Amino acid sequence: MPGTNAMPLPHKPMDYPQSYYLATATEHPRHSPLTEDLSCDVCVIGAGYTGLSAALHLAQRGYSVVLLESNRIAWGASGRNGGQLGSAHTVFQPDLIRKYGKERARALWDIAEDAKSLVKDLIREHNIECDYTPGNMGCAVTKGDFSYYQEHTAIVRDDYGYGHYQLLNKEETNDISGSNAYVGALYDPTAGHLHPLNLALGYARACIKAGVRIFETSAVQDIRKTDPARVTTANGSVTASFVIVGCNGYLGPLNRKMSRKILPAENFQLTTAPLPDHLIENIIRNRSCLWDSHNQVYYYRLTPDNRLIFGGGLGLPGRHPKGIDKIVQAHMLKIYPQLARVRIDYSWGGTFCNTFSHLPDFGRLAPNIFYAQGYTGHGLALGALGGKLMADLVTGIAEKFDLLASVPQWSIPDSPFLKNQILRLGFLYIGLKDKLRSLQR
Ligand SMILES: Cc1cc2nc3c(=O)[nH]c(=O)nc-3n(C[C@H](O)[C@H](O)[C@H](O)COP(=O)(O)OP(=O)(O)OC[C@H]3O[C@@H](n4cnc5c(N)ncnc54)[C@H](O)[C@@H]3O)c2cc1C
Repeated sequence: MPGTNAMPLPHKPMDYPQSYYLATATEHPRHSPLTEDLSCDVCVIGAGYTGLSAALHLAQRGYSVVLLESNRIAWGASGRNGGQLGSAHTVFQPDLIRKYGKERARALWDIAEDAKSLVKDLIREHNIECDYTPGNMGCAVTKGDFSYYQEHTAIVRDDYGYGHYQLLNKEETNDISGSNAYVGALYDPTAGHLHPLNLALGYARACIKAGVRIFETSAVQDIRKTDPARVTTANGSVTASFVIVGCNGYLGPLNRKMSRKILPAENFQLTTAPLPDHLIENIIRNRSCLWDSHNQVYYYRLTPDNRLIFGGGLGLPGRHPKGIDKIVQAHMLKIYPQLARVRIDYSWGGTFCNTFSHLPDFGRLAPNIFYAQGYTGHGLALGALGGKLMADLVTGIAEKFDLLASVPQWSIPDSPFLKNQILRLGFLYIGLKDKLRSLQR
């Protein structure tokens, strides 16, 4: 019978990387590995936002669910990201309309709104302690970027009735951010930021309460496309009517069809020591999270204990260069030169998962095997929604899943060497573009 992969994958389970998030994580008890042959309605692979959300929504609807994770719960991007819950997609409405037409672009906007609301609803419903703080600000590096934000705002306000965005001029942006790197900003009080690992651990607690059986250090080696499907790990197996795959940027060689659609890359973050009063008074005065229109996006926010978490710097997937703290610090000082003497307490990297369309890639590997991946930096919201939409698909509701599955995605050969060359070229191009754009301000 056909599997989805040619050869078993050797896997050495890994613990959480050292990060500010791990240092401030809520309870994260270990779950034992799978060492038996089980049967269930749905087997979910990967315990990030996608897998946890799928498992939770299915268990709440009465399905028996087994969740298999290679490492620890939210060991991947879900436990290491920037914590920014955004509105919209990575691609804003003017481009979505140009590419897909007015009707589809509107449906995609609605999906992003559903995703944002879902995360906030889950936090409320399951009392998840993750320091959710409202306020999300996109900062424009050039006047052209700011005009684009204006165009996007006009579409969603005038055509969709979304009146929450506020456009800020240069003075307001610089006053709030404490940086003079920007010409204006797009502020959204309905979006915000949170502790990403604690959000995922909260989802996991809700899963367990709903009856999901979670196995950590249980890397799936093969998925048999049979009915029922059979999923195998080194020491056990799960026979299931449905399989849901939520491995995202950490998919590795598990499935070639999925791998051809994505271009995972590494992104780095640091956390400073708590900032002294004279610095904190003039940095992100509205406690919002910020991201910007550099091609190599910078994203940052303050923590409840007044540290700055700053993200920036790209790398090949899974590779962590020496001195991540120094690399990210150099980016941070372009925005906040006043932080030159501040101590860096934590730094880490994580793999995020891009598609060429910059929209997520949803699909079916078989009539009973579904996947969602490639959220291109928007997975905090879209991952939770992707999981829910796959749970809907199990129950026979396909409309929104199929809308996303119908987005055309480029395929590239499943070769790590080729992908790394594409990334290297991409990083060069992005770096050059950012240098040129800095001259346009
Ligand atoms: C540095 C960084 C910053 C980011 N910032 C933001 C942000 O601010 N806002 C935002 O919206 N998004 C952000 N993202 C993206 C976001 O974190 C991801 O889109 C989201 O977490 C994806 O969730 P996921 O569950 O699909 O994948 P992941 O969280 O990556 O989880 C996949 C899981 O699958 C497991 N797995 C892989 N293979 C197997 C296997 N064979 N068997 C079993 N398990 C397996 C992995 O161990 C992993 O735990 C960022 C990402 C990174 C890396």
